[in-house]
Amino acid sequence: MRGTVMIDGELVPPERAVVSIFDRGFLYGDSVFEALRTHHGKLVFLDRHLARLERSAERVLIRLPASVAQFREEAIAAVSAHGASESYVRIMLTRGNATSLGLDPDLAENPKRIVLVTELKLPSPEMHERGISAVVQRVERPSDEVGVASAKIGNYLVPVLALRAARAAGASEALLEDAHGNVLEGSTSNLFAVIAGKIVTAPESAAILPGITRARVLEVARAAPYPVELRAISRSELALAKEVFITSSIREVVPVVKIDGRPIGSGEPGPIARELLRLFRASLV
Ligand code: PMP
Repeated sequence: MRGTVMIDGELVPPERAVVSIFDRGFLYGDSVFEALRTHHGKLVFLDRHLARLERSAERVLIRLPASVAQFREEAIAAVSAHGASESYVRIMLTRGNATSLGLDPDLAENPKRIVLVTELKLPSPEMHERGISAVVQRVERPSDEVGVASAKIGNYLVPVLALRAARAAGASEALLEDAHGNVLEGSTSNLFAVIAGKIVTAPESAAILPGITRARVLEVARAAPYPVELRAISRSELALAKEVFITSSIREVVPVVKIDGRPIGSGEPGPIARELLRLFRASLV
């Protein structure tokens, strides 16, 4: 894999960009991160991503080793050093090196920040034009009482395995169902449905990842105006929805036309998903 890497503010050649095996991110998935992209060379919603990184770090008690302004400058400098017309960017923050083994967060020193800039692989145009299929996967989700809920933590094993199961079933996204039968988000996306004329998506209080794309889609939807309702969507409601779509920084707004092998609505991308993609893209410039 090729890319431009900056560790603690210093550009490091990719072949020498290594993290210690004593790093808590490696030992315990004890890290937080952001994933974002450029549009016309500029980092999209950088400030919102940095605010979420700061919130994630706060939730899991990782001290920010530099100011948000410095994180901002470093991300922009790394993208510029990379030099591609468009890039994919990950900003990562680990709790740092273990001083000895043990879960106690105090057994770590020097939180480490990393910016990785690499090729932006955009979804094919067909994904937006024809929509995708998804399957629902029942998973264990962190409850709201736990600090990691709604923090973007480094350990993605639950989504990794859910996505693998989806791919094995011939689908391109896994939609994650909780113990109450609510389908809250995708493996790496937020979930929306059009139900009884309203655009419905789970509230942030449902311990979803508060997607940056979700927030902007809600803004353009409300401004349009479309009626919006923030509430959890049950699995049975989802199957009967007129439209379903997912959002993420890389995929923007993607219609879901089939869930668990059954068509959603007409089985084609719906007008609201199409319009929201158009409005979202128009809002980026
Ligand atoms: N939920 C999860 C679990 C995710 O990993 C992502 C991707 N970061 C999203 C939602 C979408 O968030 P965003 O729009 O900020 O990319």
